[in-house]
Amino acid sequence: MPRTNRSTRRRRRSSGSQELTSRARRKSRKPSSGRRLSENEVEALALEVAKELGSRLGLEGIIDEDKLVDIVKDIVNSISESRSTKPSLDSIIKRILASSQVFLKAVAARLVEETESLGQSQLEFIVANAPEVAGKAAPLLYQRAIEIGAYHIVESLRHLWVMHGNPTPISCPRCGFRAVTPNLTCMVCGAVLDEREVKDSIGFKELLRDFAERADPRLVEEVLRAGFVLVNHEINPPSLRSALRFYVELYLSRDEKDILKSIVEKRLVSEKA
Ligand SMILES: [Zn+2]
Repeated sequence: MPRTNRSTRRRRRSSGSQELTSRARRKSRKPSSGRRLSENEVEALALEVAKELGSRLGLEGIIDEDKLVDIVKDIVNSISESRSTKPSLDSIIKRILASSQVFLKAVAARLVEETESLGQSQLEFIVANAPEVAGKAAPLLYQRAIEIGAYHIVESLRHLWVMHGNPTPISCPRCGFRAVTPNLTCMVCGAVLDEREVKDSIGFKELLRDFAERADPRLVEEVLRAGFVLVNHEINPPSLRSALRFYVELYLSRDEKDILKSIVEKRLVSEKA
């Protein structure tokens, strides 16, 4: 059995099993003198390990046995490479259970590859065992959660999106995720928003008042001339464009301009007094 077929392996390895297998490899600096396991032996061993882990870690109903066998096979291969004798069922299980969190993350990462078939318990499993994976995949997991009515995990997903996903400063008024992009679409629920909806959702008038009261009056005048502002977690004048990492451009209505004018006029009057 040649050792060279690793790079041509059919499936992309998930990060969790990668961690386990590289640990096994680090231990095997010198080439093993013993017999390598045949493909059938690996398959048989992986099946036994998968069955045992499935029941010990409560994975029945979470992941199909053949997918679990696939994850385990990589680990069995690595462990067998690092030994001169055939590893026992017990030693493999012990090794995996010693890093069970890593293994569970690998299972979650595998589940996320097919979100369209996930059920409630699987969504809960991913959120509980692989927060980073869940945060990054929040748009897909949110969509699936809504489809099957698993609304209770949406709040966790919102939180994990902020921690590990790609959050923006602007919350979506439809799904509540911080995921509104500069072109006013939502990365999570896909909504295409209009300016008014975004303004209502962020309390735009309040932010505008705050800006008019705090900012240099010259910047307020700049905004009045330009007729629009750049919004992230606060209001910014257009001249700050190149200094901002993220902003949404929002145009001012007549009402909104009047708010700015009246506040800045009051300030100028009280400064003179
Ligand atoms: Zn949304």
